[in-house]
Parts: sequence; structure tokens; C-alpha cells
Amino acid sequence: MFDLQKAIDTAHNITFMTGAGVSTHSGIPDYRSKGGLYANSADPEYLLSAENLRDHPESFYDFVKNRMYYPDAKPNVIHEKMAEISNEKGTIVTQNVDNLDIKAGPKHVVQFHGTLYKVHCQKCGKQVPWQDYLKDMHHQTDDGILRPDIVLYGEGINQQTLINAVQAVQSADLIVVVGTSFRVYPFAGLIQYARPDAVLVAVNKENIAAGDDIHMIQADALSVFEKLHA
Ligand SMILES: [Zn+2]
Repeated sequence: MFDLQKAIDTAHNITFMTGAGVSTHSGIPDYRSKGGLYANSADPEYLLSAENLRDHPESFYDFVKNRMYYPDAKPNVIHEKMAEISNEKGTIVTQNVDNLDIKAGPKHVVQFHGTLYKVHCQKCGKQVPWQDYLKDMHHQTDDGILRPDIVLYGEGINQQTLINAVQAVQSADLIVVVGTSFRVYPFAGLIQYARPDAVLVAVNKENIAAGDDIHMIQADALSVFEKLHA
């Protein structure tokens, strides 16, 4: 099997690209897997769309509030090891909106799809504590509809976020893809910015479609990461 520890030891600049499979170990359901967040919803991509937020804000709020917020969730050993290793030499680019990557204390994180724990009012633009949002979808001062700063279906990635993510990928000589099936674009497309000499590794329970150049460690990420060190 590919020696991930050796690759980490010899790398100068490591970029982790992570997804829902990292946070399932903290009790947060996977977006797309069987039994996951979307399994019992008629049309989850619609529920989490800009269109639904605009046309049916109550339905959007109900879904987000009751199915996506896990404020008591704690980072697990994968988050912790990624923080430790990236603080030595690297960056984390995460698709997760649960803030667990940040809670683990890394210096460099790109939250590619934003975060549930920043909320703003669509009417006045002001930021509102997420705790207020969980009590009421309306801004108290002007009755505007609140929303979390996450990227919805039908919305583009924030330009600066995209630049930061591309730079993180371009500057890495080791890219470790963790806990993502790599089917969501444009996130999966970031890999095309990898340097030709970069070593690419994926740690995922299922084989992922990321080309022949990637070393696949088909295993549970938790069991792999608990053995790693910076
Ligand atoms: Zn407002």
C-alpha cells in the first residue's frame, strides 16, 4: 500500500482536499451516501438551492436548521491530524460547511462552500450570530430573511475563495484527498491545477474517479489518520 506517512515526511507543501467523509466520524451525516443527509428528502438539491431560498424561504430554513446544523459536533482525529500536519507545512481546502476543520485549529483553511456558522441578512447585509438564526429566520431589526454563508445550488463559488483554493492546489507537492467521492464540481476540478510533479493521494472508503495519476488508499480515513503524524 502507498506509504502516506513517508509522503508527508518528504513533502514541502501539503494540501488536503476534504469532504463529508471526514465529518461523519463527528456525527454529521454525509451529504450523498446511503442513509445520509439527502437519503430521505424528495429533492435535496432543490431544497438547498438559491431558488428554494428565494421562493420558499420557510422550506429552506426548515431543511437547513433541522438537518444541517450540529453546533455541538467536535473535530475528530482526522481534523486534528490535518490541522497538525498543515500547520507544519500546508493548507486544508474543505467542502464541509460544518466548521469542524477550523475548530481543530489549523492556520490555513479554505472553506470552499462557505460555512453555516456565518449568517447574514439578505435585506441589510449585516452579519447575525448563527444562534439567532437558529431561533428565527428573520432579522430582528428589519425583518429581512437571514441566510448562512454557504454556497447553494445555483450559486457560484466566491471569487477570492476560488483563487485561494487554486493557489493552495498549485503550490502543493503533495495533495491528499480525504473523505470525498470527488463528484462535486467545481471542487473536483481543482485537481487540474496540481503541479505535474505533485504526488496525489486519495483516502476514501470507495474508489474515487480522479484519474490514474492518483494513489488510492481505499480505507476508512479515521484508521489511516490516527496513525499519521506531522
Ligand atoms: Zn437586516
